Amino acid sequence: MRLGSSLALVGSGEARLSDRYDCNVYAIEAPDGAVLVDTGGGRAPQRLLEHARETIGAPVGALLTHAHADHSQGGPAFQREGVPVIASEASATLLRTGTEEELGIVAAKRDGVYPAEYEFANYEPDRTVVPGTAVTVGGREFEVVSLRGHASDHVCYLTETDDGRVCFVGDAVYPDGSISLLNVPGSSLAAYRSDIDNLRGRGIDALLPGHGLPRLEGGQECVELAAEALEGMYVPPSRT
Ligand SMILES: [Zn+2]
Repeated sequence: MRLGSSLALVGSGEARLSDRYDCNVYAIEAPDGAVLVDTGGGRAPQRLLEHARETIGAPVGALLTHAHADHSQGGPAFQREGVPVIASEASATLLRTGTEEELGIVAAKRDGVYPAEYEFANYEPDRTVVPGTAVTVGGREFEVVSLRGHASDHVCYLTETDDGRVCFVGDAVYPDGSISLLNVPGSSLAAYRSDIDNLRGRGIDALLPGHGLPRLEGGQECVELAAEALEGMYVPPSRT
């Protein structure tokens, strides 16, 4: 599903564009092909790659926003197809050795978010990136921005397109200004407070979240709303 001249939504469990346990998966045009952001829940990863080929081009790499299963578990299948998976150092540690407890899957199974038989597959990403630096994938440059809070390893990716500045924001901030604070290991309001400034005043046009609808213009307003709520005394609105 195209979202602009260089951008497509290639997976979404909520829209049943792909497997129901997939987060939103995006593809963006790069000089060498399509760069995907996140890899879905791993139950039908081929559909994500097919949708990327049909809309943007041949997948040349996948960036992870964080290691939660609905974002990371398509990774091994992508790697078998020759699509390298790129993650932050903190995500790489969780991907290598994280347990289902550490990744929030135990609680998610209890709440029916994942089926009881779902198993997290540990794996090694192909490359790691450091928040606060830039990474080039398929000839396209992305700025890696630390935005912990939803998860201890969470990062966002900023990149420039002909349609404006795009932010792949993962599960950190949603278009209505809400955050996603979970009652699982790694989720922390203090981390949100310390990192939200990394995304303030960045002139974001398109804000592309890991769930729900994207916001194609004025994305910065959503970040500012979340940041202002994080300055208050009460827990900000949080997506469930
Ligand atoms: Zn998540």
